[in-house]
Amino acid sequence: VSLETALAGALEGGPVLTDPALTASYETDWTGAFSGRARCVVSPATADAVGRVLRVCASYGVGVVVQGGNTGLVGGSVPGGGEVVLSTRKLCGLGPVDPVARQVTAGAGVPLAQVQRAARGAGLSYGIDFAARDSATIGGTVATNAGGVRVLAHGTTRAQVLGVEAVLADGSVLRRLGGLAKDATGYDLAALLTGSEGTLAVLTAVRLRLLPPDPPLQTALVGLAGLAEGLVVLSRVPDLHAAEVMDRAGVSLVCAVAGLAEPLPAVHPAYLLIEAPDLAALADLAGPGELDAVVAADGADRARLWAYRERHSEAIATRGVPVKLDVALPLAALPAFAAELPGVLAAGTRRVVFGHLGDGNLHVNLLGAAPSDADAVLRLVAACGGSIGAEHGVGRAKVSWLHLSRSPAEIAAMRAVKAALDPGGLLNPGVLLPT
Ligand SMILES: Cc1cc2nc3c(=O)[nH]c(=O)nc-3n(C[C@H](O)[C@H](O)[C@H](O)COP(=O)(O)OP(=O)(O)OC[C@H]3O[C@@H](n4cnc5c(N)ncnc54)[C@H](O)[C@@H]3O)c2cc1C
Repeated sequence: VSLETALAGALEGGPVLTDPALTASYETDWTGAFSGRARCVVSPATADAVGRVLRVCASYGVGVVVQGGNTGLVGGSVPGGGEVVLSTRKLCGLGPVDPVARQVTAGAGVPLAQVQRAARGAGLSYGIDFAARDSATIGGTVATNAGGVRVLAHGTTRAQVLGVEAVLADGSVLRRLGGLAKDATGYDLAALLTGSEGTLAVLTAVRLRLLPPDPPLQTALVGLAGLAEGLVVLSRVPDLHAAEVMDRAGVSLVCAVAGLAEPLPAVHPAYLLIEAPDLAALADLAGPGELDAVVAADGADRARLWAYRERHSEAIATRGVPVKLDVALPLAALPAFAAELPGVLAAGTRRVVFGHLGDGNLHVNLLGAAPSDADAVLRLVAACGGSIGAEHGVGRAKVSWLHLSRSPAEIAAMRAVKAALDPGGLLNPGVLLPT
């Protein structure tokens, strides 16, 4: 029988999409920069069905690409060519919030925003938030160890994961959703799968930690001469919950595309959006005339200030398909990196740089990039002691630069883990580890 027929059997008659009109949206990522043909697209609704699908694919020797919301920015969620796309959109069950343990179990395909709403409904909050919240799935956020705008206060997704249900390449199901606060019985498999980018297992559900709601926060947008001044703000304002940086090019573009007014009376080389329970220290800095800043007066004003940051990705996308390089740097190295960046880019490449300053995480977006630009930027990052992938992962986009951030011994250990859990190289071939 054909692979497609065998898959239909594994799905107990569920659809196996092969019509290009139906598979097209699974074959190109959010940026439009990555695309590849799928052999077919399947959407199993249970962990057991995922197991049957993987066993069929293994017996036919066909690779499987796992896809959640397809908002990942490094090409990891779309086929390289000829794989089966396993969409998690039907793994969409959301359990009840346990208000005592402060936990919830979410299917891998549940959108991030739905978990946030459920937490709010129980008087709690979820520690992860970013602009793609309506489309990005919980499985995708765990597979990429997503970060976002609350990492300063609550850590990355890794810090929210208490357990997972996942299916290995041989179809066996790992189920550990008990949410025990303490469990010292060997390897932490949930932690291993967090950030594995679909190369070790298909996550089907996740037990998540919830938090008390944040205290009331004040929000301010500050004009900066450069990143060094931003670091001064970071060091002086206590208990920051967010510290988002944007360069002038990005703020200009957002104003033009979204029809927003300039955020501050004067034009600045950079801007910092900060939130903390008390911004009195900022007033002390601004008092001597050192800083130009505006503090949000109410909720609507807060949303207005956040729009300058949150509308960056869509504004950039209106100007073409950018090369997106998400990188992390030691805080002390940020000013030197920013100073050297223009010099390593080809003449004519336009750049928009924004990101999570408190985490040393910059999103370097290049428009009209030359072929040499990505290599030059990632080598500069490595020379500054940084990481070539901060929160979107390695995907297909950065596979050939993994060695800049990981030693030969580390890559060998990662390969040994991959070979042990997925000996046939079935899951996400070509993603994360060079083939
Ligand atoms: C406007 C915008 C803003 C963003 N801001 C941020 C940000 O601030 N911080 C941040 O971290 N990211 C950000 N991202 C990137 C992206 O949203 C995250 O990486 C997100 O976690 C991806 O989730 P997804 O469901 O779309 O995953 P996909 O894009 O579908 O997949 C991403 C990777 O995870 C794997 N995967 C997905 N689901 C599973 C699963 N169930 N089991 C195993 N592997 C799986 C895929 O194979 C792929 O390798 C942003 C994206 C956009 C478009």
